[in-house]
Amino acid sequence: MVRENCGVVGIFSSGGDNVVPMAIDALRALQHRGQEAWGIAVPGRAPVRRLGLVSAAAGEFDEMSRLFSSSAAIGHVRYSTVGRSSLENAQPLKVADLCVAHNGTLSGASEVAAMAGGCTFTPQASSDTLAAARRLVELMSKAPGLGRALSVLRDEMAGSYCFAFLAGDGSVYAARDPRGFRPMVLGSRAGGRVRVVASESAALSAIGASLERDVRPGEIVRLGAAGLESETFAREDRTAHCSFEFTYFAHPSSTMEGKSVYLARRAIGAGLAKKFPLREADLVIPVPDSARPAALGYARELGIPFDEGLIKDRYSKKGPLRSFIEPRQDDRVEINRWIIPIRQIVEGRHVVVIDDSLVRGTSSRAIVAALRGAGARRISMLVTYPPIQHPCYAGIDFPSRAELAAHSDLPDQSLEAVTERVRADIGADFLGYNDAGNLARAVGIDESSMCFTCHTGDYATLGVTPAHAARGDPGAR
Ligand code: SF4
Repeated sequence: MVRENCGVVGIFSSGGDNVVPMAIDALRALQHRGQEAWGIAVPGRAPVRRLGLVSAAAGEFDEMSRLFSSSAAIGHVRYSTVGRSSLENAQPLKVADLCVAHNGTLSGASEVAAMAGGCTFTPQASSDTLAAARRLVELMSKAPGLGRALSVLRDEMAGSYCFAFLAGDGSVYAARDPRGFRPMVLGSRAGGRVRVVASESAALSAIGASLERDVRPGEIVRLGAAGLESETFAREDRTAHCSFEFTYFAHPSSTMEGKSVYLARRAIGAGLAKKFPLREADLVIPVPDSARPAALGYARELGIPFDEGLIKDRYSKKGPLRSFIEPRQDDRVEINRWIIPIRQIVEGRHVVVIDDSLVRGTSSRAIVAALRGAGARRISMLVTYPPIQHPCYAGIDFPSRAELAAHSDLPDQSLEAVTERVRADIGADFLGYNDAGNLARAVGIDESSMCFTCHTGDYATLGVTPAHAARGDPGAR
């Protein structure tokens, strides 16, 4: 199983507009969801795929738009989770007449149940997206209808998925898993002549399209000559929207599940201030960039000055990249090396540092050390996401449990003890984690309608309980 938390887009114009330039711009707006490879597919052609950032191929855009000119297209940006990216793993994939772009993680339900240690240590022989696409094509060869085929597939595979499909007749389809783990939205421009589906509304904004609504969990929509058609292929009692999207993954300008990500992050910061009111602090600084709205919310709530004490160097080789979604540890370290403290801001001060998450501890250790080096008197680290103690099997690349900073082999170890251990590990003077209830309240979605499995270890939302083992343990792969 190859894990992918990526970005997908699908565009159809009923007026014959060439949508390829729009697809490219939409993918650029989804770059934060995947920075390793990208691609687009149009009817009747093999998908075009490239490694690296979309912008790295800017010199090709005009020719690509001319050669691939089409009124229907799907696209994909890839955040792989295993080893180096290769072009074979880039998407969209094409199986028979069906092109597929996938955001999420899919695996056979039995494979997930037998999984140990975290996705990193699972067999990589085949792509989950390719397996799903082949199965869908096989099912449709027996009985037509993508919705019907998806309703069969959902019982055979576990995980999360948002799909954009391009069918042989030029129709664009989009489907979202019945728990709604990953976001997906529907929009339009030019009075509905151009219809768009995308992982996030940031992609709609980038091409001048308006957000109409979320694609509903368990819904498949078709954008084609007949306009917008919708079908429900699966129903679940409750949703499991990924809470991590709200603190880290999604673009701050996006609206998901009817909630502004930016405002949600600011409210999360204000909620954190109620939980940890460090009024004696001199200033509040964010870890750039995702934590900035939360730091602002925290500072405003307590009336403490907000400032930029850490600057991400955009001009270094990896400056524009997000460290967490880089697959290699040395690349993550390299990115964090270029988060630079501003001595004049932090020297001699008690600094509250707001971060969006603490996964391996790589960036926290580097940031605390850098602030100490710049003369900070006291460093209080507050994390907007609760302790991540379990792997994600629904599309986010958390490492095996043993690599998670907050993982504990002691089942009864208290949250306080875990927090103290992590605090000592990263070298901060104080560490405070948010909790699920506080986060959900700030977002404005009921806690029971969101996924917090990487914090709680309760895999009921997935419908399958993976076997756990740390790397090196007997049974770990
Ligand atoms: S386990 Fe965590 S990262 Fe994965 S879907 Fe659930 S909340 Fe999101």
